[in-house]
Amino acid sequence: MPSAADLKRALRPAVHRLRQRRDALLGGNCIVLLYHRVIELATDPQQLAVSPARFDAQLAWLKANCQVLTADEFDEFLQSGKRFPSNSALITFDDGYADNHQIARPILERHALQGLFYIASGYIGADREYWWDELERLLLVNRNLPKAFEYDRLEGELNWNYDHPPNAADMRERYGFLIATLRILSSEARDAILSELRIRLDSSRPRSTHLPMTQDELRAFASSPSVAIGAHTIGHCTLSSRDEDGQRSEIIGSKQALEALLNRPIVRFAYPFGTGAEFNAVSMRICEQAGFHHAAANVTGIVHRRSPRFAFPRVIVRDWEAKEFERRLRPFLR
Ligand SMILES: [Zn+2]
Repeated sequence: MPSAADLKRALRPAVHRLRQRRDALLGGNCIVLLYHRVIELATDPQQLAVSPARFDAQLAWLKANCQVLTADEFDEFLQSGKRFPSNSALITFDDGYADNHQIARPILERHALQGLFYIASGYIGADREYWWDELERLLLVNRNLPKAFEYDRLEGELNWNYDHPPNAADMRERYGFLIATLRILSSEARDAILSELRIRLDSSRPRSTHLPMTQDELRAFASSPSVAIGAHTIGHCTLSSRDEDGQRSEIIGSKQALEALLNRPIVRFAYPFGTGAEFNAVSMRICEQAGFHHAAANVTGIVHRRSPRFAFPRVIVRDWEAKEFERRLRPFLR
């Protein structure tokens, strides 16, 4: 006979579906989509890029099947506790890649839709790749890797010694290790390691396909009616790994930097990485006290009238054809 715990576990998905249906019935249902990049890439280990043609098709599908909200409209519902329109949607992007301006913006403009872009301010105009992209460049696509390498930080995990150039599987493992390790460091400690590795691994030039926006690009970008801007920390660190002062300087620092650059109030925020483990009650309190209207998480689900304003869910979008896009969104629609 199954135990009560087994039974509870087996029923969990059904209970979740029922709860979601009840929330949608009472509070409306808004799907907040989470994108990062719109571009064709040769390699994409983090699966962040959607091709321009597929993004175009996804927007066409959204326009035909959902009520796509602007950032102002979304905040109005979330702040007032009014019921969200049935099958509404909000388009969001994280990080601030240059392709958001060069490729995604014109497609949004053509569809007369708006995206809300959360920007990691420390990367704007810094002429370097986002740190996870740098790790890819240094370890996975670097043609200058030495046969032997010794690095006295990171407890020797990055040392190797072969009689041939390192093989791809081996470097993928080290890349995975470094992603997990650097993710919980402060932005400063992480950047110090990257500065050393750039020189030691002979790969210091950022790839033109992987650059964040420059300051001029961000200003031009932000002047489009298809663009709303939010903050996303300075250095894209894990907030829950920082103490309160560290969190405050990353959160408020990005708000102030973007306000100075764009000469407008920045009232929206998204937690880097954003799963429940990467921000905490302190992050939420700082965001609320800083005067943000909302803070976006990266857990899956619909937004309804009672969703937490400082940790609402989003649905991450991959490089899906319109049919697959529809299949993935179906569970969130009524
Ligand atoms: Zn991000």
